[in-house]
Amino acid sequence: MLRIALVALLGVALYAQQPPPDLIFTNGKLITVDERFSIAQAVAIRGDRIVATGTNQEIAQLAGASTRRIDLKGKAVIPGLIDNHMHLLRAAATWAKEVRFDGVDSRKRAIEMLRARVKSSAPGEWIYNIGGWTHQQFADDPKSFTRDELDEIAPNNPVALQESYYQVFLNGRALAMMKIEANAPDPAEFVKGSILRDAAGKPTGVVRGDIAGTRVVANKLPRVAPEQLEASAKALIGDMNRAGLTSFGVPGCDADVLGVLHKWKSEGHLNVRVFCYGGAAAANPDGVDRAIQQLARMKLFQGDSYIDDVAFGESVYSPLHDPMFALKSSPQPEQLEAWRKIAMAIAQAGLPLHVHAELSGTIDAFLDQVEAVNKEHPIKNLRWALAHVNQINAAQLERMKKLGMYAAVHPWAVINGGIMHEGDTLNKGFGDGAYDMPPLATIQNSGIVWGLGTDGTAANQTLPFTTLSFAVTGKMAGGTKVIRQTISREDALIAHTRKNAYFVFQENNLGSIQAGKLADLVVLDRDYLTVPVDQIKDIKPVMTVVGGRVVYEAR
Ligand SMILES: [Zn+2]
Repeated sequence: MLRIALVALLGVALYAQQPPPDLIFTNGKLITVDERFSIAQAVAIRGDRIVATGTNQEIAQLAGASTRRIDLKGKAVIPGLIDNHMHLLRAAATWAKEVRFDGVDSRKRAIEMLRARVKSSAPGEWIYNIGGWTHQQFADDPKSFTRDELDEIAPNNPVALQESYYQVFLNGRALAMMKIEANAPDPAEFVKGSILRDAAGKPTGVVRGDIAGTRVVANKLPRVAPEQLEASAKALIGDMNRAGLTSFGVPGCDADVLGVLHKWKSEGHLNVRVFCYGGAAAANPDGVDRAIQQLARMKLFQGDSYIDDVAFGESVYSPLHDPMFALKSSPQPEQLEAWRKIAMAIAQAGLPLHVHAELSGTIDAFLDQVEAVNKEHPIKNLRWALAHVNQINAAQLERMKKLGMYAAVHPWAVINGGIMHEGDTLNKGFGDGAYDMPPLATIQNSGIVWGLGTDGTAANQTLPFTTLSFAVTGKMAGGTKVIRQTISREDALIAHTRKNAYFVFQENNLGSIQAGKLADLVVLDRDYLTVPVDQIKDIKPVMTVVGGRVVYEAR
């Protein structure tokens, strides 16, 4: 008895030596996502870190006169969500100009958004988006857009609406600006066969053709002016915070946008954490030696918990970069030899690797190479990760586990599920196999370290509660069931928080609400653990906190 009292007294004495917390949240349901998945009532934050979690009473007694107190009124709180693979910085160059359909599950609403944008735009100004949606997500009317319809909506503006990396819908003005004309050959820069025409040779307004085909159009669309880049990046980061996202693994951190983030960091208002996967992939056999020389000079982990370089990625040898809508791959021996040579150098340099690998044939072939590399330069502690992996299987997961590899899972079906099932002229569809892309339960049950991401902002939508809903229900955006292997809400949340912290080498700082970790957390409008399953996608953050700073608050 005496001992217990002494310990309690000692505890209070220790607290008393510390300055009081700057901020406490009480009267909530804190889903801490710690190792025991424990629930707390309250949390105390000092500076940018969590100093304690506990009951209302335990936390309230820590508060001092200067402590800001927030009554959660029973609301649920989760750790700041981490997307382990989003092309976040690239998106800043267009974000302010795009009419984004992320989370828009009504075609009627999408058209309203287009009309509103037309109204606020000058004649001749482009109305566009670059991916992040497909028409199959429109629950009210899952139809694509026609040229005539877009002409009616925007008679005086060129319109380009890009569905994922699958196809782009153009109106008459856009076709004219792209020099796509009836009775004239296709402009040379377009991928052969990607411009669809009717029987009379008139362009239908559809340009179709995976990443290469759609990118020709995207590259012709205007970027924000240099002096508007900061404002566009701010709008982008604001949208991410509103969605509950606080940290990202980012393939290809564009230098100009990174410069903006560094400036914000020095000014104390960088509201996301960005961990870059970088380095130039070799594009052909001649580029292999140059790529190896470059990566030998790569220096990772020179930054901090806001901005850092953490891995080589996301492509090693670009001829082996799987397209999005290919049904299968057949990597050639000489291509794999080039891949292995570069991968060997990455291992030798002691660098982590985060590499795009989608199709089963590619995953097997890469694992053959990694096993060969591992014999000469063990990769056990380098956290090599395969990214996307929608076609992964149990045997491959077993091989990866043995190698100490991680799986960065990006369910493209969240918006592309319709295309993956139905197929089209480009893609005959994966048939029944689409129901296991990705095989979430197989991945979860394998015991591998794995995390959820999107691969947004073009290949996929960006909203984490849409991804979590998909993982738990198997339903794509708009509500159609597209995969059969689902996982529990708890496992999905762990994969979007604590496990993702490993991909960005921040497991001691991020991913759970625990004393000692950085104070990144999200207050939700309803309880993720108990809300009816079909409402998970509708959960909205009411407050997002990064490093103890409130970066978003719903009005
Ligand atoms: Zn990729």
